[in-house]
This record gives sequence, C-alpha cells and structure tokens, in this order.
Amino acid sequence: MGYSYLTVPHGEKITMGANGKLYVPNNPVIPFIEGDGTGKDIWKASVRVFDAAIEKCYGGTRKISWMEVYAGEKPFNMFRDTMGDQAWLPDETVEAFKEFRVGIKGPLTTPIGGGIRSLNVALRHLLDLYVCLRPVRWFQGVPSPVKKPEDVDMVIFRENCEDIYAGIEWMQGTDECNRVISFLIKELGVDKIRFPETSSIGIKPISKEGSERLVRAAIEYALKHKRKSVTLVHKGNIMKFTEGAFKDWSYDLARSEFREQVVCERESWIIDNKDRNDSLTVEANARKIDPGFDMMTPQQKADICAEVEEALKLMPSHGRGQWKKLLLIRDTIADITLQQVLTRAKEFDVLACMNLEGDFLSDALAAQVGGIGIAPGANINYVTGHAIFEATHGTAPKYANLDKVNPGSVILSGVMMLEYMGWQEAADMIVRSIDRTIGQKRVTYDFERMMQGAVLLSCSGFADALIENMK
Ligand code: NAP
Repeated sequence: MGYSYLTVPHGEKITMGANGKLYVPNNPVIPFIEGDGTGKDIWKASVRVFDAAIEKCYGGTRKISWMEVYAGEKPFNMFRDTMGDQAWLPDETVEAFKEFRVGIKGPLTTPIGGGIRSLNVALRHLLDLYVCLRPVRWFQGVPSPVKKPEDVDMVIFRENCEDIYAGIEWMQGTDECNRVISFLIKELGVDKIRFPETSSIGIKPISKEGSERLVRAAIEYALKHKRKSVTLVHKGNIMKFTEGAFKDWSYDLARSEFREQVVCERESWIIDNKDRNDSLTVEANARKIDPGFDMMTPQQKADICAEVEEALKLMPSHGRGQWKKLLLIRDTIADITLQQVLTRAKEFDVLACMNLEGDFLSDALAAQVGGIGIAPGANINYVTGHAIFEATHGTAPKYANLDKVNPGSVILSGVMMLEYMGWQEAADMIVRSIDRTIGQKRVTYDFERMMQGAVLLSCSGFADALIENMK
C-alpha cells in the first residue's frame, strides 16, 4: 500500500505460505517502533547489536531493512493537530505491521484519558496477536532474589485476547451496569451478587477456539524445541465453565491433534501402572490413580474406570515406557503454580495460561531471573504469521535520554524475532555474547547495584560490549 508519512526502505516483505510456513527473504523490511521514554536510548543500542550479529553471521548475504513506524508520544506530538487521539497509534502504523508481518517495538506510554486504553493492547487486538510469548531463563551471574535461578527455564504462552482482559466491564451506578445486574438477577436468577447496589461488573469470556489456538501453539512450540512438558495453568476448581473449560478443551485438543506425540499426565500414571503390573485390573488401576476411589459414587467410579480403559487403548503406542519419550501434558491450579515455580522450578517447562494468570506468572518469573530489564516478549498470531516482539518493561521516564537503562529486554526480544524468522545463527550469537558480557560482570546500573565487583556500563556501552564479545 502507499503510505503518506512512512518511508518504506528498499527490501522485501515477509510472507506466509498457504502451508502455514513463514517465508523470510534475505533482505526483509521490518517495521520498528522506537518507543517512548527510555525507548530511544534502548532502540539505538539494540539495533546496532542486531545488525552486528547479522553481519558477522551472514557476511552481507542477509540484512534487515529497518522501517520506522510511529506509536506513542512521538506521533502524538507530530500529528495531534490533524489526527487528535488517533495520533497515538496512526492507522499507517497498524497497516505497516499488517503488510510486513513481523515487527519489533520498544515500550510505549499508556495515554491517560482519551479513547485508547493501552497502545500495546490495541496493537494486539487489531492484529489478533493471540499468543503472548515470554521465555524466562537465567543468565549466569545475573543477580536474583532466589537461591537457584538456574533452575528457571520456562516458556509462557499467555492468551492475549480473552479473559477479564477483554475490557467488557461497566462502572457501578451507570445505566449499563444497572441493566446488566438487573438482567442477571431477574432473567437468570443470579443470587450471588453480594452488594448489587454498589457493584461494578466485569465479564470474562473464555472460548473453545481461543483456548485451542493458544494450546495448539504451545504444544507445537514444545515439540519443535524438544521441551519435556506443557503445563496448563488454570483456576478451574472455582471457575468451572471458564477456567475449567479451558483445561478440558486443552486436553481434548492435545489428544485429538497430537495423539502420537503426547501423553496426558493421568494417562501416564495409568500406563505406568500397567507397565509395572500387566495383570492389574481396570478397577485396581483406577484405585491407584484416584486414592479416594472407594468413597466415590457408582457413577464416579464408572467414569474413572472408563478413563482407565480409554488410556489402556494407548498401550501399543505409549506402553512399555514409550510414553516417557513423549511430550507430557499436565495441569496445575494457578495459586499452587505461583508457589511451585519458586519451590520446584525444574518441574516446569512450557506453561499455557489464560490472560490474567499469564500476566501474573510472567512478572513473577521475570523477577526470579533478574527482573524486567532483561525479560523479552512477543505477541504472535501463528496462523497469519503476524508478530510483534517487544520490551516487557515500561518507558521508565525518569531515565529517559540518560543512556542508562538496560537494553536487554529489547535485545532479547530481537533474539526471539530472529529465531522466529529462522535466523538462528544470529540469535545464538547474541545470546552467547550476553552470556559472556554478563559473565565478565560488565553490566548496566540495574545489575551493577546488586553485583559485587561489577563494571558499570551505560546503555550504549553495554551494546558496545556485546558487539565486542560476538564470536
Ligand atoms: P516501568 O517503565 O517498567 O519502570 C519501572 C521500573 O522498572 C523503573 O523505575 C526501573 O527500576 C525498572 N526498569 C524499567 N525499565 C528498565 C530497563 N530497561 N532497565 C533497567 N530497569 C528498568 O514502569 P512504570 O514506571 O510503571 O511505567 C511507565 C510507563 O510505561 C507507563 O506509561 C506505563 O503505562 C508504560 N508501560 C509500558 C509497557 C510497554 O510498552 N510494554 C509496559 C509497562 C508499562 P528502578 O527505578 O529500580 O531503577
């Protein structure tokens, strides 16, 4: 398309084939948003790191043509007279992300007042970027508040479009809110709203499609990267038809689409019981997987026995220990998960979560490995191929233009982008260089203040050190 104020550099578009495969030319055009506040310093440092790694790895045969697109304070200041509130996120920016498919962004100010709630949320919504992907790993030497940060190596797939994050809510006292409350009480017979006169109301949509596409992406990722397990995180014991349904739909999808490659946790117990004792009856097996079996109603017992029989049909493909080589699908309740990612970090690998719990988990885990200065993220639609890689921290305005903050979050988001594009060598080179540089204790202020004997580097100085350490 033609752009009126964006300049398209020379280069080609990344496209998506009908086979669902991303085609990345050797000279792709990649839109970027510099970001507000510290974004400017961070982007200047990060882009040098990306270009250096690509040049060192591919000797000029591959190169990114960076295309600046605008969102946040920069376009608001440039275009507010003509565009008003729309200047926070001009249409051409969204069009460019649609057209060129893969892009990267720094942190953006959340406009206060006006019609836009959050630019990040708007971009995710407009491009239907339904997965928020957050890998969380520790780099040797990074100061951490936990005893064994090296045990943390997890990848979070957080649903990005649904849940109470969908923004369907009404303020107490408004006509809409009163109508919703009246409908719930009068039409649906709801009698659980404790204070109907003074309640605000929010609605939590969780769909089958939304759950399935998230979990499909998580399982495909886990298989591709040879991960051991996918844990479904939910609060289905309380919210049975939203969170509980998420869990059930996810297990159903795992079984129907990935049957030969996965084993669900309860199946693994049943098969293991049978492997250990071939003469074990269905009922004895049921008693082992559910210790409360003898106290159950006849219907509950029948259901468990049916589950055992179903799992035993897998013996030819999964029995004799073959299940141990397959991807394990399991689920945990959200509250205990937040404890166990701390106390038993090694037991978690890929995590699939709904929107709100994914948000909490992402930040809690980022803290375990050294904080938001180096936590990368991506928002992806695996069907269309659209993806925006982004810093997970905010604009930290007090540090703007001081060349001070850690550019690690945007740099590692760029690493994720290079991996997504299939430019693995360049991605690996940057990761090795971060390892080496932090190992040499050459770090920005956020790490330096917590490390003994570290050398304090500026934002640009850290980028220089990374480039120097690229081998
Ligand atoms: P913030 O910008 O993330 O900053 C909070 C603190 O995190 C900073 O004071 C600093 O800690 C640390 N920090 C942030 N970036 C860092 C970096 N690159 N390196 C090292 N430390 C870093 O959060 P905020 O002050 O709550 O939010 C400011 C604005 O950012 C708001 O408008 C908010 O809406 C927006 N925001 C945007 C995004 C996004 O675009 N993805 C995400 C979150 C927030 P110390 O003070 O301890 O040094």
